[in-house]
Amino acid sequence: MFPFEIHSHTSQHSKCSGMPAEELIERCVDLQIAGLVVTDHHYQWPQGELDALAQSIAGNGLVVLSAYEVTTLDPKTDTHAGDILVYDWPEDEPPLPIWTPYEEACARIREIGALGISAHPYREGMGAGDLVYEMDIDGIEIFNQNHAQAHVNQARAAVARRGFLGVAGSDAHHRMQVGQFYTVFEQPVQTIAEFVTELRERRFVIQSNRPDIS
Ligand SMILES: [Zn+2]
Ligand SMILES: [Zn+2]
Repeated sequence: MFPFEIHSHTSQHSKCSGMPAEELIERCVDLQIAGLVVTDHHYQWPQGELDALAQSIAGNGLVVLSAYEVTTLDPKTDTHAGDILVYDWPEDEPPLPIWTPYEEACARIREIGALGISAHPYREGMGAGDLVYEMDIDGIEIFNQNHAQAHVNQARAAVARRGFLGVAGSDAHHRMQVGQFYTVFEQPVQTIAEFVTELRERRFVIQSNRPDIS
């Protein structure tokens, strides 16, 4: 099996993170997982830069992929409509900016052929909540460090009812937050395109490493 940490932030490009990419990569090597996806806020690392960093720290021991996370707006209420993780967004296309209206964000993600996952939808005050039922997205996070067990249960219900992909990511901003939750693939994943294919084909399971969350 091939465990991936698919939601993580670096201090180079996320102000809220206390962890440089180097430390994040080192931690993943220590955890002996197969891969890592860096998902900074409104910033997508050039893949070549991450490849070079991964190579210098981990040799060929860890796959490190680039994606990003966008904070969206609900224009009807002028409030936060949750964050969307965007995977396989083209490198020559600027990432969607903060406060993109969620319908527009979902439409752009579709149009461009990327994969959209609502991050921690049931996080208090900072998730999409039941708006996910109306969103044209591919999946939602079930496990995330900002989901208590009750939120996990709500996310599982949405996955069951809407047929979403239900994934798991730690949303790690600090070293000790890495590796709480994994999305585990059946076969090796080397590129962001393969990553998205394996998700779309549902060849994965999710794993909680926290005793309080299942
Ligand atoms: Zn953050
Ligand atoms: Zn995040």
